[in-house]
Amino acid sequence: VSGRGERPSSLLGGTVSILTANCGLGHTVELSEYLDLGGYQALRKALQTPPRQIIEEIKAAGLVGRGGAAFPTGLKWEAAANAPGSVKYVVCNADEAEPGTFKDRVLMEDDPHSILEGIIIAGYAIGAQKGYVYIRGEYLLPYQAMKKAVEDAREAGFLGNNILDTDFNFDIEIRRGAGAYICGEETALFESIEGKRGFPRLKPPFPTTHGLFGKPTVINNVETLANVPVIIRKGAAHYRKLGTEKSPGSKLFCLSGDVVRPGLYEVPFGIPFHHLLYDLAGGVRPGHHLQAALFGGAAGAFATPDHLNVRLTFEDLKEAGLPLGSGVITVFDETRDLRDICLRLARFFAEESCGKCYPCQMGTQRQFEILERIARGEVQQEDWERLQDVGWTMTDSSLCGLGQTAASAILSAMKHFPHLFQPI
Ligand code: SF4
Repeated sequence: VSGRGERPSSLLGGTVSILTANCGLGHTVELSEYLDLGGYQALRKALQTPPRQIIEEIKAAGLVGRGGAAFPTGLKWEAAANAPGSVKYVVCNADEAEPGTFKDRVLMEDDPHSILEGIIIAGYAIGAQKGYVYIRGEYLLPYQAMKKAVEDAREAGFLGNNILDTDFNFDIEIRRGAGAYICGEETALFESIEGKRGFPRLKPPFPTTHGLFGKPTVINNVETLANVPVIIRKGAAHYRKLGTEKSPGSKLFCLSGDVVRPGLYEVPFGIPFHHLLYDLAGGVRPGHHLQAALFGGAAGAFATPDHLNVRLTFEDLKEAGLPLGSGVITVFDETRDLRDICLRLARFFAEESCGKCYPCQMGTQRQFEILERIARGEVQQEDWERLQDVGWTMTDSSLCGLGQTAASAILSAMKHFPHLFQPI
């Protein structure tokens, strides 16, 4: 979708403009413009509010993580705030590497200060003095935009010592990844910041007590943090006016594939999938019809035309057996061979598995080999059982989320399109 040299924000759409209010202007909103647009007002308000009350406001808003795990943000902040110790960290996970996902890229390129504002408020709420932004290595423009924003914010007194003449001290350091998908996993990301190989850690203990450098840490996705100034500025009750009881607010969806208008769409939680696909994005490309849509990226699951009425909320999608993930939806029309799509996904996981645990290290390789044979048309009678065996073994016994979801799209394709995986 992003195309060569094309800003993905030029493909911005949707029915609300909250997180993307300052996006799509054709340039990065720098500090002076951000201030004119009401920027850092939420931070001013937050610094006049007791930290516990900030956490309560985030809890009342019902904000949950937008990186894929959907964990309640306020509970995460509360756990880190309650953890013993005077050294705590906030980490912004900007290692956006899920295939088809580009929402964090747009937020960072177009409106970096809104993310910084969210990080600083998080730092104040949990009692941290330092924050890190870990940006995907391939994301040069977002890195440059965030780096400049940090420098400008520091110079203007929004970072550093005695922020806005209070006794709150907080600074942010930007780190770049080196191209490993696994470094989006929170504990592998910590290892990477610490200068080690990006290997996931066993959990528990969880980051809120033993995170970066072994200290209590809040790690939130870019989009999650972009919600924070919105909530603090206008209040939880106002925030809840959009969306549903269990999925309040708006959501960014990255729509790509065989669709007329691929792009980034901000919509309230709760609209049906068909509204996003047909009314907003123009539907499947002319002359073709929907065969499947991959929800949640490589680690996701396939939807079929039967899912068009499913509402886009955490609860509705869960009931339909589909992940919301980070909000990525890739559309495939009837001309696409889903065996080939599955093979690409399997190749991705075989290459990106970090190799720390056997179920994933070997399972992703075997899964790829079987799908390679199936894609060549050489399906064996036992392949169905082999794929199920390998897939569920990885799902049930892998150490981290990569291995636990490395088979989910393939298993869902087998469920909805079984004929593709059986001998003719
Ligand atoms: Fe590494 Fe895969 Fe094991 Fe995660 S599940 S630790 S990516 S080998």
